[in-house]
Amino acid sequence: RSNGKLDRFVVIGGGISGLTSAFYLKKEAELRGREAHITVVDPSERIGGKINTLRKEGFVIEKGPDSFLARKTPIIDLAFDLGIGNELTGTNPAAKKTYIVHRGKLHPMPPGLVLGVPTEIMPFAKTGLLSWGGKARAMLDFVLPASKAEGDESLGSFLSRRVGPEVMERIAEPLLAGIYAGDLNKLSLQATFPQFREAERRHGSLIRGTRANRGKGTAAPAAPGRLPKRAQGSMFLTFQNGLATMLEALTEALAGCDSRFGCKAVAFRKNEPGEADGPEAAPYDVLLSNGEILPADGVVITAPAFDAADLLEPHLPVDALRSIDYVSVANVVMAFDKAAIGIDFDGSGFLVPRSEGMTITACTWTSAKWLHSSPSDKVLLRCYVGRAGDEEVVDLPDGALTDAVRRDIKSVLGITAEPLFTEITRLHRSMPQYPVGHLEATARLRAQLRAEMPGVWIAGAAFEGVGLPDCIRQGKDAAAIVYDAVEG
Ligand code: FAD
Repeated sequence: RSNGKLDRFVVIGGGISGLTSAFYLKKEAELRGREAHITVVDPSERIGGKINTLRKEGFVIEKGPDSFLARKTPIIDLAFDLGIGNELTGTNPAAKKTYIVHRGKLHPMPPGLVLGVPTEIMPFAKTGLLSWGGKARAMLDFVLPASKAEGDESLGSFLSRRVGPEVMERIAEPLLAGIYAGDLNKLSLQATFPQFREAERRHGSLIRGTRANRGKGTAAPAAPGRLPKRAQGSMFLTFQNGLATMLEALTEALAGCDSRFGCKAVAFRKNEPGEADGPEAAPYDVLLSNGEILPADGVVITAPAFDAADLLEPHLPVDALRSIDYVSVANVVMAFDKAAIGIDFDGSGFLVPRSEGMTITACTWTSAKWLHSSPSDKVLLRCYVGRAGDEEVVDLPDGALTDAVRRDIKSVLGITAEPLFTEITRLHRSMPQYPVGHLEATARLRAQLRAEMPGVWIAGAAFEGVGLPDCIRQGKDAAAIVYDAVEG
């Protein structure tokens, strides 16, 4: 025991945010020459939260997230901190194209689109995805004055104001659906794509601003040489044996820490100084569903907003947490014999706008996009269902869901072959929807935590970015913030 004291931490949630927090809390203790006891609590029996890799019959199947943006470095730093940086891999360079369904047919996404914003005019002018009126409306972005309004607005209102409803509905929404599965008219611009507003503000035009920023940081910037060759230059990265590689490495690195999997944090007690005494007395007690009480000097809460709200409600106003809706989604993975399919996939997959009226929202040609994912004589497709306003589909019985997905695959790709196997994953209330004003609301909540519950912090997908690198950054920051408070 350094300083004669053991610092006790409870991390609520064993997803990537919580595990990262625990990992960096351990590192912080080493750096500060202190001794920490860290316990990770999660009601699931399985580590990793949304991350869920299935290795089966030579396939690497991601049932949750499948990759991350290479330009966001906290995850790459974590990979190297964990000693698994050499397992990073990039997408197949021959499968760069993405398609969008329009009137039932696949159209390649015009080159130069950055998050749905055109930056090259000729391919945009030629695309069959939009009407002439829709293209002309998008070009008005060059002349429309920038809004002078301060503060947040919805992503939908911003995009329809700048590039018009057609680009928004046929291109931007299906593209962004993969990240939020959301209703763009409800999502916060500031909390999702602040660079869009910044482009308008600085360049007077979303297209001009996006063009000016184009190329800045698409592939991993910091020391790309440290990445293995197969990962260099790729916009997306993953691990060649799946994202679970990170969970396995974290489990190993957290040896010596405690965990309570299969056990929920059900309440949270704040002990006023002098209120609790005895050798175990701590500023906080975390009560678990198994009846156990964990005394804590510091607590990192990484549970989804609705669970975090239940825990914090007795202590603080939690409207910031309650106002974050979650959308349910599912994915259906199907494996085929390549010979039975007869398609040479030349891209990474396709997106389906709402107006097409299909069940699926997108389909990734996983075996083409990620060469490590499948044996070379097999094809792996991952189809997505569920988005804001269309969530009932997630709970269709397995047979009905598979039939609906196969109908769509048949109509778009002509595939009628029987899958070798099908894996269905339902993720209820899994995609947080940052409401307009989210950043301010989060900042207010955190300021209250700092003032009234020092040593307690909230982090994770509900707050500052849903992507894995954003969750990792938040988990790492949380470790330093909480340790600073504990150390005083
Ligand atoms: P979670 O993984 O949700 O972990 C929170 C944990 O808290 C859960 O395990 C839960 O059981 C636990 N918990 C809840 N209540 C309690 C309680 N009372 N006590 C203790 N524990 C509790 N991101 C990317 O970067 N790339 C992708 O390709 C990508 N694809 C995605 C695909 C899907 C289908 C989904 C749903 C998300 C995807 N994301 C992707 C986003 C990313 O996966 C998540 O944002 C991230 O994994 C969330 O991590 P987290 O630790 O913050 O939350």
